[in-house]
Amino acid sequence: MAPSRVSEELYPPTLSTGEAEHLLSTIKDWSVVHGLTVRPPQSVVPAEADPQGILATTAPVTLFPSPFPRVCFEQAKSIQKAYNSLYAAISQDEEFLKDIVQEIIEVDEFIAELWQVHLKVKEEGYTQNLSLGLFRSDYMVHQAVGVAPTIKQVEFNTIASSFGGLSAQTSKMHRYLTENNYPQFEKPLRIEASNIPENNSTRGLASGILAAFEAYRTSAYPPSLPLCVLFIVQDGEKNIFDQRHLEYAIQDQSSPVPVFRLPFASILSHTSIADTPKRQLLYHLPSSPNSIFEVAVVYFRAGYGPSDYPDADTWKARLQIERSHAIKCPTILTQLAGAKKVQQVLATPTSTSTPSILHRFVKNAWAATEIERLEKTFTNIFPLDESSAGLEARKLAVDEESCKGYVLKPQREGGGNNTYRSAIPPFLKSLPETHWKSYILMEIITPPPVHNTILRAGVLEQGGVICELGVYGTCVWNQETKEVLHNEEAGYLLRTKGNKSEEGGVAAGFGSMDSVRLV
Ligand code: ADP
Ligand code: MG
Ligand code: MG
Repeated sequence: MAPSRVSEELYPPTLSTGEAEHLLSTIKDWSVVHGLTVRPPQSVVPAEADPQGILATTAPVTLFPSPFPRVCFEQAKSIQKAYNSLYAAISQDEEFLKDIVQEIIEVDEFIAELWQVHLKVKEEGYTQNLSLGLFRSDYMVHQAVGVAPTIKQVEFNTIASSFGGLSAQTSKMHRYLTENNYPQFEKPLRIEASNIPENNSTRGLASGILAAFEAYRTSAYPPSLPLCVLFIVQDGEKNIFDQRHLEYAIQDQSSPVPVFRLPFASILSHTSIADTPKRQLLYHLPSSPNSIFEVAVVYFRAGYGPSDYPDADTWKARLQIERSHAIKCPTILTQLAGAKKVQQVLATPTSTSTPSILHRFVKNAWAATEIERLEKTFTNIFPLDESSAGLEARKLAVDEESCKGYVLKPQREGGGNNTYRSAIPPFLKSLPETHWKSYILMEIITPPPVHNTILRAGVLEQGGVICELGVYGTCVWNQETKEVLHNEEAGYLLRTKGNKSEEGGVAAGFGSMDSVRLV
């Protein structure tokens, strides 16, 4: 028998043309059969070639699961519940969020509008105290010379954390290849199945939504109308199958839960608010206008960026959801808790002598160790405001040499919004200095080199790659009593991009789906 090959020098293995072709056709078919798919991008299939919108294509994936340090994977998974509690607590702390958004809203209209929606509902009074978070904390591996690798947080997502559906399928695919394809190479590649951990991201996220649904159902019992879950989506979403996996998992229950998809732009035409003190959210089925459901849970896969709010009506739509009795995933406050500015405030000690701001949010019996574990995942992030730390950071940001170690981020989500390294000084100089405070400056994390091959649109891209691990978490809590009803870690995502690309978004076309091979 030929020797097995998993040593890092030979990973991933060089394939013969025949092996590469076989692997390619296996992945293409496996992906379609198991819904590891997306709607084809315009660059692959122009709209006029698919007027009925019936085509699907394989999502970009790596041919092999990327090596990932086991200690880092365990670290990221084991800290997720602490992160869920932390962000639930931040979302409950309106004063803290108010101080943070106060500065930004002067120059950031989008954040200002979100805040306005919250204030309007606050004035009227929220009628729903329960909140649902489907979170994803993203990390890269950091390895200093001579010490064990550790994870450093890239960002924490509190709205529309995507890829949980495709991610579970990607792990299944890499496990399938591990059992059925890699061992058949001329020089067999044998990976222990136990080194490709199970990934329950689809089920995990569905459980979060079901926990919120159950909490609503219990409080509304007996309901006067049938209850449902509403996914608020973007029109023409290419990453629809990722969402469908989640939707089907929610429906796949002994007593199925109805789930409907509603484009953000159609909220006002297909929902209304009951004329009751509770203000239940009603969904009017477009196909049968006399069928009305009471919405227990609203799950946003849209609404995280300004492009979803082209006019005043779309802001009215967001307000309609926020003031309703439905459990929101997320509320405005939870969405704002995910602002990069919040992450920066958590990571920037005001001075070495003052205790970490985390003490304000982590108050359990083991707070000291939990805070230490959370802080270990932070990397340096600086404000660009007029505080003394901000003024220092401004010098770093505009200096042609020091800027090379940083990424500049605005308060935006969804990929493609950052400015990297040498592009930072000219970018900042193109802005009025009064706007700088709405950005944060973050140290670039440089993970150890990894090689892999990405299959994108039928073409193989081989070379150095950068992996980003995301861990999902689900949390249901009460904004008023601060009681946490549900708190779970919910599987993972590994996204991999070529090491020449700064951005790694799969949907944005830079990255690919991957799984971990624990080493
Ligand atoms: P978004 O909310 O738009 O996804 P991110 O903070 O995740 O914003 O940044 C987008 C991408 O930029 C990340 O997926 C990662 O590839 C890259 N990136 C962001 N911050 C860093 C960092 N500190 N070091 C290295 N790469 C980073
Ligand atoms: Mg994000
Ligand atoms: Mg991101």
